[in-house]
Amino acid sequence: HLGRVATPLTGGLESGDTQIYAVASGKGGVGKSTVAANLAAALAASGKRVGLLDADVWGYSIPHLFGVRRSPVVLGELMLPVPAHGVSLMSIGFFVDEEQPVVWRGPMMHKAMEQFITDTYWGDLDALFVDLPPGTGDATLSLLELLPTATLLAVTTPQETARMVATRVARMAAEIGRPVAGVIENMSTAECAECRSHTAIFGTGGGARLAAEADAPLLGQVPLDIALRDAADRGTPVVVDSPRAASALELRRIAGSL
Ligand code: ADP
Repeated sequence: HLGRVATPLTGGLESGDTQIYAVASGKGGVGKSTVAANLAAALAASGKRVGLLDADVWGYSIPHLFGVRRSPVVLGELMLPVPAHGVSLMSIGFFVDEEQPVVWRGPMMHKAMEQFITDTYWGDLDALFVDLPPGTGDATLSLLELLPTATLLAVTTPQETARMVATRVARMAAEIGRPVAGVIENMSTAECAECRSHTAIFGTGGGARLAAEADAPLLGQVPLDIALRDAADRGTPVVVDSPRAASALELRRIAGSL
């Protein structure tokens, strides 16, 4: 019932107070999307109005992580984000077949993202998370141009090779004058469910080193956790599915510190 919507339906972000977090990584597979999804869901669970823009156009995974398959409602020129687990979602994945590749080149991607930002009725959000494409390429840069007030959250694993590529993200941020709000180390030391021993499968120290290089705080270290992987595969963020799991506790703590 449009008549009941208090604010006029204009696209874009209603409030200049929306905190925008662009979640970045040096390369794929380090858990950038998982971290973005869980921070958004954790903040929403604490009563904040939260949006999540899936800007990882070619490797989008947000619809799957939130277990949603339906398309956004389109009202004339305006799209309404899809609500899931308290978060307002927008993703290219809502418009294409899950197993079809998105074969766009840069300019198409830029246009689509512009529309996702300005032609989506985001409403009055406290926080908007943006799941960036991995790396420091053209797509990442043009997205940051579209989001001039965004600060970066850099995700890395503890591994030295991952830290090295993530450093490029920190340097890119410095070059374009964007603050890095913090570093999140993911896939940190795993605890054995049976013997309680800890194993540093991907080594240690990557998050702390990246934080020192970026001159930003290390916001937390999310352990490698079967509960997280299992929840993700079932289409629910672990902070909602198993809020007491080790990874969920740390992700909730990080969200609370933002
Ligand atoms: P990226 O966005 O950096 O490409 P994803 O968020 O898609 O990475 O994560 C890659 C894979 O690793 C996914 O299958 C995800 O479920 C899994 N994963 C991410 N973080 C963790 C973790 N802390 N523990 C266990 N599995 C994880």
